[in-house]
Parts: sequence; structure tokens; C-alpha cells
Amino acid sequence: MALIVQKFGGTSVGTVDRIQEIAKKIKRFRGEGHDIVVVVSAMSGETNRLLALAEEMQSQPKPEELDVILSTGEQVTIALLAMALENLSCPARSYTGWQVAVRTDSHHGKARIQEIDTHAILKDLAEGRVVVVAGFQGIDGEGRITTLGRGGSDTTAVALAAALNADECQIYTDVDGVYTTDPRIVESARRLDKITFEEMLEMASLGSRVLQIRAVEFAGKYQVNLRVLHSFQDGPGTLITLEEQTEMEHPVISGIAFNRDEAKLTIKGVPDIPGVASRILGPVSRANIEVDMIVQNVSADQTTDFTFTVHRNDYQRALEIVSQTCKSLGAREFDGDNKITKVSIVGVGMRSHAGVATKMFETLAAEGINIQIISTSEIKVSVVIQEKYLELAVRALHSAFELDQDVALRTENRIGKLD
Ligand code: ADP
Ligand code: ASP
Ligand code: MG
Repeated sequence: MALIVQKFGGTSVGTVDRIQEIAKKIKRFRGEGHDIVVVVSAMSGETNRLLALAEEMQSQPKPEELDVILSTGEQVTIALLAMALENLSCPARSYTGWQVAVRTDSHHGKARIQEIDTHAILKDLAEGRVVVVAGFQGIDGEGRITTLGRGGSDTTAVALAAALNADECQIYTDVDGVYTTDPRIVESARRLDKITFEEMLEMASLGSRVLQIRAVEFAGKYQVNLRVLHSFQDGPGTLITLEEQTEMEHPVISGIAFNRDEAKLTIKGVPDIPGVASRILGPVSRANIEVDMIVQNVSADQTTDFTFTVHRNDYQRALEIVSQTCKSLGAREFDGDNKITKVSIVGVGMRSHAGVATKMFETLAAEGINIQIISTSEIKVSVVIQEKYLELAVRALHSAFELDQDVALRTENRIGKLD
């Protein structure tokens, strides 16, 4: 008998029928003697609908009020699931985030969980009930409702699993695990049996939305056993693991991630003097715009070009800021492009292998794809390319690094064989 936290995403609770299916599955787990805490998302499309509704009222709603409206999506699904369980004579009780309480900081729209009160949940479990908790939401020190950022129900589940010291946290979704890349883009993508926390963290932060990045951070920090599984198909799913696999079976590249949400801005002919980077990026960060990649070229004629990327939603605001900075710095000109994509290859095996980036660049060149920005870390290489080449680039890289083959059959993308 184990304590299991199970999270069901938006499509898995997208209709009343699906919620009934999920309830049957949960009842089966109960029948095996396990204690179950369930975290649910809003029905698919609901969070976007609520967002659009708020924006119809106000072009830039206050984050505090936006959180009040966005949190209602999950409140609907917890009640529906609790009712579906009761229909099956499986005692259940629903909790909103603030009823639990899931305590967070006050960063509305991207709040961080600080503490979870597990008293009520433990009492319910002891009394034989399934506990159904609304994902994505919490309460701050002022007693105001907060939300955890898009995809935040994953984080609720992992944080609850950590707080309850659960035996496993199972993330049920519309794919049967974590794949070498998004299976909706590359048909030959393969499910991974295991992936390390480190790799999953990079994949999540580089755009694979299968798990929210903070969920992976939490799982790594509190050593939560985390598995991604299909809601309606049986199978082993993917285990997110602390251990690295044995050398010979570990690939150099484990996966490919991409992010369509980026936009790039460039100021050209900036005087090459101390303090320029802070004068360009200072006003951007003061406007609460997060900057991702930053590139400054070597100077020619005492001037340089400065490029950075932001989330596409912040593009227009960032352009306005940059136009002001361009004037005040006496730079030559500025421009921007919001039709770009970042494509990244990820793998812990990169640490011990040379030539990985070169292979990536050669593969893109062979397809005639121009690279606009490059950035690297110990276990990833990212490139910015034109958005229209996204699918071509991901497919070409997937096949060049032999990700469509079983690890044992790969000739190059395997530790011990490259170089
Ligand atoms: P949920 O609503 O269950 O939280 P999400 O849409 O947030 O589901 O995440 C699941 C989706 O993530 C899949 O449908 C898939 O298209 C996408 N995805 C992106 N990259 C990957 C990957 N490497 N492996 C699996 N799924 C991925
Ligand atoms: N409903 C929220 C979203 O759509 C949270 C989640 O699904 O994890 O982002
Ligand atoms: Mg999700």
C-alpha cells in the first residue's frame, strides 16, 4: 500500500465522459489499497477562455484579478471529479488551493509555492477518502488567490507529493511519456524509458511543455519519484530519475526541444563603452520583461551590435523600450523579428563528447537553414532560426542524432562510439 499523487491534465479532464473514465481508474487504484491524492487541471481550453474573457474587459488586467478568474477553471474540475468518484461509491472530497492551503509568494501569475499544509489531506486519507486538489493555484500572505504559471498543475502535484512524502507522483497526460521530441512534430519520436532530472529540466526550460519546469525543479530538490504516463492507455511511461544510465546505453543527445514563443530585438551601432549592456537591458527588466538569450558582437569602429530575445507576448513593449534606448544611446538603428524559433539539443552525454555542436550546425546547413543566434551550456546547444524552418530543423536533427532508433542500434549518438 502506497501513497500516490496523481495529476490529470486538461485534455484528460476535458469532458464529463473523460472525468468519469478517470474516476474509474482512481477507484481501481483505491481497490489495490493505495491512498490517492489527485490534482486536476482545468478542462482543456478553459484557462485560455478565461484569459480571453478577462482581456475583453481590460487590455491589461491586474494580475491579482486575473488570478481570481483563472483559478476558477480548476475549481470546476475538482467538484466534477469528486462527484464522479462519489457516483462510483468511492468517497472523495475536493479542495481548492486556498482550502488546502497551498501557500505561495505574491508573484501573481507566476507564484512560487512556499509551504503546503497537509493536515486536512492526511485526515481525509486516514478516513478513507480520495482527496481531489485544484492544481495551478494557491494563496499568498495577504490571503489573495495566486496562480503558478501556465502548466502549473504539474508543480502543485509534485509539491504535494514532496510535502506528503508520497511514494510516487504520476503525471497523466495525452502522451504516454516523455519523448525524444514532441511526438506531434516528429512522428518517429520515441518514448524514453528514463530521463535524468537535469535533462528534463533543460527540455522543460527550452520549450517541452510536457512538464512545467518548476515541477521538475521541485522533484529534483525533494527527490520525488516522478513518472509521466498516458491517462487512458496502460504502459510504463517515463521515469524522471536522479541516476544517470550506465555509460554504454546512454545517448549523447537525449532529446530535442523547441520554443515558438520567442522574439528577437537588435540595436545596431551601439557605442562600445562600459555600461551599455545595462543601459539596454535595465529598462527592459524594469518593465518586468524577462530576457532569454543575449548576444553582443565584437566591436568594429568602436561600435557593436547587441541582440536579445524575449517572450513573444512582450515583443511590442520591448520594441518601444528599445526605440527609446536607441535614441538615448546614440545608436545607429534597431530592428526586431517575432517570427523566430529556438531549437535545442539536450543531453548529459555532451559533457564528455566533442563535435556535437558541429554536427548540429552541419545538419542545419545541409537543409539550407540559417542560424541567427547560438547559445550553449554544458548539456545543451540552442540555435535561433526562422520560424518557418522549425519542423524541418527538428526532423533533420532528430534523424541526424539517430533519435528515431533504439539506443542499442545507434552507431554514433551513443556514449563510447562518438569521436
Ligand atoms: P496536460 O494538459 O496534460 O498538462 P500538456 O499539453 O501540458 O498536457 O503536455 C503534453 C504535451 O506536451 C503533449 O501533447 C506533447 O504535444 C507536448 N510535448 C512537447 N514536447 C514533448 C516531449 N518531448 N515528450 C512528450 N510530449 C511533449
Ligand atoms: N490550467 C492551467 C493551464 O492551462 C494549469 C495547467 O493546466 O497545468 O495552464
Ligand atoms: Mg501541462
